[in-house]
Amino acid sequence: MELKEFQSDTIIEPFRIRSVEPIRFTEMAERKELLARAGYNPFLLRADDVLIDLLTDSGTGAMSSQQWSGMISSDESYAGSSSFYRLESAVHDITGFEHLIPTHQGRAAENVLFTTIASEGDVIPSNTHFDTTRAHVEHAGAEARDLVIEEGKKPRSQHPFKGNMDLEKLKATIREVGVENIPVIMITVTNNSGGGQPVSMENIRAVSEIARDHGIPFFIDACRFAENAWFIKSREEGFADKSPIDIARQMFNYAEGCTMSAKKDGMANIGGFLALNSDELASECRNLEILTEGFPTYGGMAGYDMEAVATGLYEALDEDYLRYRVRSIAYLGDKLMEAGVPIVQPTGGHAVYIDAKEMLPHIDSLEYPAWSFNNALYLLGGVRGVEIGSVMFGKQPDGSEKPAAMELVRLAFPRRVYTQSHVDYLAEVIIAAYQQRDQLTGYEIVEGPEVLRHFSARLQPLG
Ligand SMILES: *Cc1c(COP(=O)(O)O)cnc(C)c1O
Repeated sequence: MELKEFQSDTIIEPFRIRSVEPIRFTEMAERKELLARAGYNPFLLRADDVLIDLLTDSGTGAMSSQQWSGMISSDESYAGSSSFYRLESAVHDITGFEHLIPTHQGRAAENVLFTTIASEGDVIPSNTHFDTTRAHVEHAGAEARDLVIEEGKKPRSQHPFKGNMDLEKLKATIREVGVENIPVIMITVTNNSGGGQPVSMENIRAVSEIARDHGIPFFIDACRFAENAWFIKSREEGFADKSPIDIARQMFNYAEGCTMSAKKDGMANIGGFLALNSDELASECRNLEILTEGFPTYGGMAGYDMEAVATGLYEALDEDYLRYRVRSIAYLGDKLMEAGVPIVQPTGGHAVYIDAKEMLPHIDSLEYPAWSFNNALYLLGGVRGVEIGSVMFGKQPDGSEKPAAMELVRLAFPRRVYTQSHVDYLAEVIIAAYQQRDQLTGYEIVEGPEVLRHFSARLQPLG
């Protein structure tokens, strides 16, 4: 018998399921009622009333048996816990940074960093600041300036690294505001608010060079560092044969520090950290950490959280996992493009972004087209995504309203949670909503807080 080697093009889930959680089916009439009661804000729905929950990939992933077993044997000592040292060694191994400041999640790391280094009148350039990052920069009295390349704002552009920073705009910003008013240059990998698009190694290197030439520290918002490493491996010349961990090490090597939400590529349900090289800055940051997070060897995390993250950081860099992860996003993207649904292309690392501005020209940006489409997905199929548009970004620090650059519905995939048939169903719901797009109307905000209003605003459909 001569069997030829079997090669499959199907990328299967690189895990099997050992613990399951039922999801609840509802009727459309019930969902209408539930959405109205939630002030037409999906953030205010009960998760139990959602069938497929793509609100965020943050902290919603399934942990591995390795992570759970590590959690059982964690060390809950207040000071000097061995779980802290395990996390410190993982972070040091992957990022190379000298100091680890654990925090309860990513925004706490941002709070510690920006409260320590930013002040009134400062400008903090980034490719695109994430909403919590922007909020912390502004809370410190500084300006959060987005300098992503022009291709990054064009949903149909096929540029392989649409998260790249525009180097000319960065130099112009430094000239305009002066080195003394730029405490740090940030780059977000992958660029969450810009469609989950990756940043190339070449761009990271170039930004770090500009930063070094001007004596400005360069930090990475590293929430999706592993997904970014995968895109570099698959799209950038010279990296195809490198492992994701080596690519990640090189990315971090260009920077002096990073902020991290372990709820993303830390593969954990909670946690985060600030990691950095400067002894002086680290000790200043630790003073604030003790005040707001906790003692520096746990800072907002339980010992078992630190164990989960220490293991999760390596699992996020596993090649089989990353191949499956990026493929499952592209699989939905391909189905939607086939049906004519406008999405941000190419598909990013953690989410599909539907272009509501393109799809719903009859709804003005300040009547929130992406909000409207997202609510339609819930009504039709019990699916929950999130608006990344003018509700999230439209409110200016002076209280005025300005349309966001893009009106997107983000469908973010929890890690290792949904299977291919869930995604097939999802595609059906989205396509059904798309086919009825002429029926959709805009929304107005009837009640909302000053900052991060999308989390708790109440809205009302127009017309
Ligand atoms: C999620 C996220 C943050 C904030 O992290 P949290 O853990 O949600 O506080 C910051 N930056 C980016 C790019 C993110 O995706």
